Amino acid sequence: MTSEAQSVNLLGLNLQELEDLAARCGQPRYRGRQIYHGIYVRRVRDISTFTDLSRDFRETLASQQSILYPKVEREFRSRDGAVRYLFRLADDQRIETVYMPEEERTTLCLSSQVGCALDCRFCFTALLGSRRNLTAGEIIGQALAVTTAQNVPRGARLNLVFMGMGEPLLNLPQVAKAVVILADPRGVGIPLRRITVSTVGILPRLEELALVNARPKLAISLNASHDEQRSAIMPINRKYPLADLLRVCRAYPLRPWEHLTFEYVLLDGVNDADDDARRVVDLLRDLRAKVNLIPYNSGPNLPYRAPKFERVVAFQKILTERHIPTFIRISRGQDIFAACGQLSLEGMDARPSAA
Ligand code: SF4
Repeated sequence: MTSEAQSVNLLGLNLQELEDLAARCGQPRYRGRQIYHGIYVRRVRDISTFTDLSRDFRETLASQQSILYPKVEREFRSRDGAVRYLFRLADDQRIETVYMPEEERTTLCLSSQVGCALDCRFCFTALLGSRRNLTAGEIIGQALAVTTAQNVPRGARLNLVFMGMGEPLLNLPQVAKAVVILADPRGVGIPLRRITVSTVGILPRLEELALVNARPKLAISLNASHDEQRSAIMPINRKYPLADLLRVCRAYPLRPWEHLTFEYVLLDGVNDADDDARRVVDLLRDLRAKVNLIPYNSGPNLPYRAPKFERVVAFQKILTERHIPTFIRISRGQDIFAACGQLSLEGMDARPSAA
């Protein structure tokens, strides 16, 4: 048996790669399908327990490969039931994943990168800067590690949202590969309709995403009603301004059951005025869209505050009166800094934890 550091992680390999691996080992290709089933359906983590493979093949595999989930370094449990997982990766980088149980469904918020390069001014992850992209195995590993730890059975109503650390479209190849395996009924088996990628709007990548076969749902972080305001809080807007973003959104090929989701983090006195709401109505005109309003979660080191709840409701009213379905999303896990825009590794020890 080889050490973890030397071995190749099978987690994240797709069906074809595992069939190729079996063939390289002198085995029939269907052995690769058995390994795929073992990793993603049976959630086998020890190659020696692949009892449907011959002993020789198992030993060959185990000498060079392993099945490694990210390691849980710490858990932070919220009063509202949410759990923020701090994972340590094989190269000692760390990421966070949030588990949010609700009565009718459970949501996992996945990270796609270590840190983030995009420097949104209201976001704690931005303080980390850009470190690296996650592999498909590290993305799938978050989902498998958390659902295993929380005893979420296969087939449970589970939503996956790529709204944790990082900009998923800056890691599109690995995110798309992970989504194929996550959504495959022969793989992890979470329907595509329950997987959402959230982006600031990296336009060339958005056009690529429109073409992938296993396409998750799309959420756009809007957060502003005009370019000057958006550029001030999201520097990427200087490269991809609102008119261009909304042109790409209008051309985006929605499936019959689908709508675009626009996320709008409300910052007190910055983007939460009635005039902002009216401009958002104009921006989203003619789009099959809904809006999630997210009152900001204040925290240390950033200058923004949450608006009063009456302001949030007034903003919502202007949109719903113009027939834009608009929902107020109160972030889960605020007491453990697991809420939207709050994932950040540094300063962790200063955070309150009920764990
Ligand atoms: S909000 Fe998202 S895209 Fe912006 S800095 Fe934070 S993680 Fe990156």
